[in-house]
Amino acid sequence: MFDQHIRTLVVVGAQWGDEGKGKLVDVIAEGADWVVRYQGGANAGHTVAIGGRSFVLHQIPSGILHPGVRCAIGNGVVLDPDTLFEEIEELIADGVDVSGRLYVSDRAHLVMPYHKLLDGESAASKQIGTTGRGIGPAYEDKVARRGVRVLDLRHPERLRSLVESGIAHANTQLAAFGSSQRADVESTVDLLERLAPRLLELADDIGLVVSRARKSGAAVLLEGAQGSLLDVDHGTYPFVTSSNTTSGGAVTGAGLAPTSIDAVLGVVKAYTTRVGNGPLPTELDEPLASEVRRLGNEYGATTGRPRRCGWFDAVVVRYASRINGLTGLAVTKLDVLDTLDRLGLCTGYELDGETFTEFPGDLVTLDAVKPRYEWMEGWQKPTTEARRMEDLPSQARRYLDRIQELAETRIAYISVGTRRDQIIGL
Ligand code: GDP
Repeated sequence: MFDQHIRTLVVVGAQWGDEGKGKLVDVIAEGADWVVRYQGGANAGHTVAIGGRSFVLHQIPSGILHPGVRCAIGNGVVLDPDTLFEEIEELIADGVDVSGRLYVSDRAHLVMPYHKLLDGESAASKQIGTTGRGIGPAYEDKVARRGVRVLDLRHPERLRSLVESGIAHANTQLAAFGSSQRADVESTVDLLERLAPRLLELADDIGLVVSRARKSGAAVLLEGAQGSLLDVDHGTYPFVTSSNTTSGGAVTGAGLAPTSIDAVLGVVKAYTTRVGNGPLPTELDEPLASEVRRLGNEYGATTGRPRRCGWFDAVVVRYASRINGLTGLAVTKLDVLDTLDRLGLCTGYELDGETFTEFPGDLVTLDAVKPRYEWMEGWQKPTTEARRMEDLPSQARRYLDRIQELAETRIAYISVGTRRDQIIGL
């Protein structure tokens, strides 16, 4: 993917998340010098299968699995220090050497124990179906200018006063939710003071470090979490995550300039899934929904929740292509469709005799629309051994061609299995 023209590449999910970004980042990171996560937090879960082993990464970029690659957690991420160290320990136990190549932005905000308490207790979190990891409340505090950043750990007195005001606010909210739980200043400060030395060792001005690396020719991959339709501005609000998952968020969240991006790869499944509540226009009915869920093993990497499954929605992907400026698509999980006899491709939405081909922002409209489908013949042959386009059955090639046309974006990769080698590069 990287060449003399493409030195900084963004990888984004172009649906509702879980598109298989972890695998694509793992494959592309082979040619990268730096991989930077730019938003989200421990609510993300990338699964990467290597040599019969499966690694689940929540906060650390998937690039860590390549020995020569440096990885950073950008300022746009809300960082849970406790689980970061758990993740580091797990990687070390699995034989992955992280020393000297994992960095954390000193501007990243911290997810506090009280953010997790709030996430578990608020009615809004329950309605949206959040992962309960404190991500939303941590971003709320960031925007309300009440947050605690990694660099605050350098100043114990300032840290204590920030924690005191954060907790005062959290406890007022907990009381308002009718919760009997309360956050405690001493145990929170103790935890942070215990973690501070290790965290500060990893901390740096990542925007500066990566900009310098770029200047000296480094290949930089900016890794997104969740998906474009979960972007707080462009997604199906309020059923969204609390950050900008799209490529605009990549630059603000990594500390780079917009002009530094050379290419944006959108990862999409060959069908559609979504976790939690909110619109999913192409959602399948039973028993097909359960069948696709079983074939695609559609259960969340972080929460184990069953994912809702639908046909490929070209309206969604064309929209994602526009807002991200996609220069290519990676279509994953094509193999999951191998046994189906016919496949629906959604080309527009219908409502009261009107057809929409642009994604509506209004949830009331989205809930009422009926997808318009083009039906394609299935291939009913295995695709997992295909390594070139020509190896795919003709029906699969037609399906992909049509996706490319409808999404108005060229396909750069096709993934046909969980393993690193199960990929077709175009
Ligand atoms: P991410 O959050 O976008 O990285 O996606 P997840 O890791 O949550 O989900 C992707 C899941 O699909 C992981 O279990 C991957 O191993 C798996 N996966 C990725 N690509 C393929 C593929 O082409 N075929 C199949 N069958 N599974 C895949």
